[in-house]
Amino acid sequence: MVRAGTLREQDLVSAGLIEAGRLEEIARVADKFAVALTADVAALIDPANPADPIAAQFVPSRAELEVADEERADPIGDERWSPVPGIVHRHPDRVLLKPTLLCPVYCRFCFRREVVGKRPAMLDQRALDRAFDYIRRRPEIWEVIVTGGDPFVLAPRRLADIVRALDQIAHLAVIRFHTRVPVADPRRITPALVAALAAEKAVYVVVHANHPRELTPRAKEALTRLSRAGIPLLSQTVLLRGVNDDAAVLEALFRGLVAMRVKPYYLHHADLARGTAHFRTGIEAGQRLVRALRGRISGLCQPTYVLDIPGGYGKVPISPGAVSAGGEAGGWIVEDPAGARHAYPPDPEG
Ligand code: SF4
Repeated sequence: MVRAGTLREQDLVSAGLIEAGRLEEIARVADKFAVALTADVAALIDPANPADPIAAQFVPSRAELEVADEERADPIGDERWSPVPGIVHRHPDRVLLKPTLLCPVYCRFCFRREVVGKRPAMLDQRALDRAFDYIRRRPEIWEVIVTGGDPFVLAPRRLADIVRALDQIAHLAVIRFHTRVPVADPRRITPALVAALAAEKAVYVVVHANHPRELTPRAKEALTRLSRAGIPLLSQTVLLRGVNDDAAVLEALFRGLVAMRVKPYYLHHADLARGTAHFRTGIEAGQRLVRALRGRISGLCQPTYVLDIPGGYGKVPISPGAVSAGGEAGGWIVEDPAGARHAYPPDPEG
């Protein structure tokens, strides 16, 4: 389950990313969940730091063998909403299309870790045609989210075929790609890949990034190539204990993204995937961070903090409220970024 051309368990030892004595434990993890790191990601890791936030995201650990009672194989209920292979249709106006289950790296907290990197890894042409047909027959579908796995591991020619097929479906307005490639394997964002995304319809790219150190000059080049092609860029971040559960780290990440023309979109509360309890913060801790960020960074830098309700019930915002009913009848109390409370509307005498 280790992608060819990437670092294998043994490579992790020779790269100094794990000690030889941990090899057996890592092999047990790799039996259950795919393992892969790109050279770009490996180069970001400080092997001398046992708490390195990049290593924590990609280097397997024994903690993944421990499954908490509340954890699930399919935490957000993809299976329940999958009418045909490769499609997840949870909300009336949009579907997920998963042409591949391969990724350039395998994140240790992945919510699809039971399926990514495993066979069958690709939708064959017949299944892909069936998926397009499913979309074609439903005029209520407005947006297709091409995800996986990571769709940007596909060859540009294959990606262009997908974009072309979707572009020809009259009722679709938006084709959205979810990817980790611009930060994890930025050299894949070639002019040919960017050209493959050209369409009449609006094409958006949502980049998964969790730590400011992922925003390397090479990642910037990749993102610039996409934005220069007129593709709007958004980001999603997973809130991870020991990686980015710190206001200063999130601030640097979101400022860095905006400076690279990427609008922070979602901050995900980590899902209940099996073997990932060591990554999860409590919701209260997440809300404290979101509250701290309100006073520190502009609205442009602020994503929406969301939870995907286990079982496939969809995503909901879980940011702390800044407003509650109170004061005069029909009035409200609003909290400013510093935590002070104010009546709304204000007292005309005050
Ligand atoms: S890149 Fe996305 S789909 Fe792939 S392992 Fe990471 S979180 Fe999962």
